[in-house]
Amino acid sequence: MVLQYDVVIVGAGGAGCRAALEIPEGVRCAVITKLFPTRSHTAAAQGGVCAALGNEEEDSWEWHMFDTVKGSDYLGDQDAIEILTHDAPQTIYELEHIGMPFSRNADGRIAQRRFGGHTRNFGEAAVQRACFAADRTGHIMLHTLYENCVKKGVEFFSEFFLLDVLIEDNICRGVVAMDIRTSEIHTFYAKAVMFATGGACKVFRISSNAHGLVGDGIALAYNRGVPIEDHEFVQFHPTGLFKLGILVSEAARGEGGILRNKNGERFMERYAPTIKDLAPRDVVSRCIYTEFREGRGIVGDDGTQYVHLDLTHLGKEVIDKKLPDVTGFARTYLGVEPIKEPIPIQPTAHYIMGGIPTDLNGQVRANQKDKLVTGFYAAGECACVSVHGANRLGTNSLLDIIVYGRRAGKAMTEFIRENDFAPLPRDADKPVREKIEWISKSNGKESVADLRQKLQDEMMDKCSVFREVKGLAAVRETVRELKARYQNIHIDDRTRTFNTDLLDAIELGYLLDNAEVIVEGALARKESRGAHYRDDYSKRDDKNWLKHTFAYKTEKGVKLEYKPVTITKFQPKERKY
Ligand SMILES: Cc1cc2nc3c(=O)[nH]c(=O)nc-3n(C[C@H](O)[C@H](O)[C@H](O)COP(=O)(O)OP(=O)(O)OC[C@H]3O[C@@H](n4cnc5c(N)ncnc54)[C@H](O)[C@@H]3O)c2cc1C
Repeated sequence: MVLQYDVVIVGAGGAGCRAALEIPEGVRCAVITKLFPTRSHTAAAQGGVCAALGNEEEDSWEWHMFDTVKGSDYLGDQDAIEILTHDAPQTIYELEHIGMPFSRNADGRIAQRRFGGHTRNFGEAAVQRACFAADRTGHIMLHTLYENCVKKGVEFFSEFFLLDVLIEDNICRGVVAMDIRTSEIHTFYAKAVMFATGGACKVFRISSNAHGLVGDGIALAYNRGVPIEDHEFVQFHPTGLFKLGILVSEAARGEGGILRNKNGERFMERYAPTIKDLAPRDVVSRCIYTEFREGRGIVGDDGTQYVHLDLTHLGKEVIDKKLPDVTGFARTYLGVEPIKEPIPIQPTAHYIMGGIPTDLNGQVRANQKDKLVTGFYAAGECACVSVHGANRLGTNSLLDIIVYGRRAGKAMTEFIRENDFAPLPRDADKPVREKIEWISKSNGKESVADLRQKLQDEMMDKCSVFREVKGLAAVRETVRELKARYQNIHIDDRTRTFNTDLLDAIELGYLLDNAEVIVEGALARKESRGAHYRDDYSKRDDKNWLKHTFAYKTEKGVKLEYKPVTITKFQPKERKY
């Protein structure tokens, strides 16, 4: 069936819902989502969303801008970061006004707390900048946005699975999606399409991400000729529950939690004397791995190592009031009582800084120069407007999705006013039908679960916190081998109702494409910057590498091009904390 809408947004997380809210009433707007909207990963965000409101102490958006630029290891584009930090207070107040119940301070204003890398007066000391709703900030934010969308009459297509984006002659004309309930294929013909499909950290074995975060939109855009920017930069969050990767929010350290090694030592004092446990995530994750390497980790029953996150000195009241969910996870999944005992943690793959490149209005870039794709937009974790550069600061992603979701919504509104529908290609859904037919009928020998496991293990072992040429070259071979074996997969369920076997198989294809781009970018980048750390090139190299990677899919494999970084206010300096 062909359905026609002015605007089609794929993804009902914070970025998708925030964009949908900008589309005026009377304009036909559809939001397609493989999950029920409020089950999107935005709802898992715990710690906060930052803005220099100055409700607790003096603060300014210029300080926030500086911190974000420095946190990005100077790879973030400073024009984009200026918009992010300057518009932050207004976007938070808008959320407040449409009903988001933030936690409050004693004056009744939005409460704020400390978070990694956020400082006062250009790095002097930690500042309270993260607004929050206990440790359920994303959950509360997404519910508020979704309810407002429903009130406004946005049409949601829940449990519809995106399978293709229709780009011809550099004009986007719609998407193809499957109704998961019936396996029916539908073409959504649109003037403007926006991707807000979220992250891709399920490429790694230990990850804080939900099962569905496989980089769908990123892989589909890549397969249709769109370059992928800076995908080698993957953030490992220091505090995932040991072996599980489930996140213990940085809010735990923001409230005063301390990391300790096997000797009980507060080791971050040695590495980051100024802000200690609240250094940015890339720094803290590397310090934890260094503790492991030097034998100061605690060895678990499976022989792997962890360190402790100690909250015991915070007391029951603070823990119950400000960190109820994350401490609940420790109780439920590890059987640890955080009021009395430290929590075993290890770094966990958390956030992908790279993605579909966009301009400042969320319009997708067609190349590393100035060419844009007509009618195609992206925002949120799947996109890269490059506010996070080589490393994202905590609480800057919830901010990114509302600031840039809003901007993309506004840009699409203007675009559809001025433009007509471009013709729909004939047989637009043919490639998708052929792919589904192939997977459904294939009698290959390979199991989807086995291939996925191998990919996640290898990426975790060779392409995570520490990287070097031998490991990267080996994992490149593994990805190639797995891509070949993928051609020979089979699925057991051949029915048409809620066929999750089929979805898993398609998602594995998306994971492989994302992994390929991550690994190629990481192999090529012979320096260490932000979350990308090369043992064999341990220094940042601004002379050769202060530039964005743009990865293209070609017949011969990945082709890499580069784009200069936009620097306005802050010249690159050594990053010390
Ligand atoms: C555990 C955890 C805690 C976090 N805490 C914080 C925090 O405190 N502060 C902060 O700033 N950031 C935090 N983050 C990061 C932040 O939550 C995310 O980066 C952000 O919410 C992403 O929002 P999004 O709208 O881009 O995507 P998501 O919220 O992930 O939504 C993606 C949407 O795309 C849809 N979709 C994907 N693929 C398809 C497909 N093939 N077909 C149809 N639909 C599809 C999904 O159904 C979903 O609706 C956290 C992340 C995690 C994992």
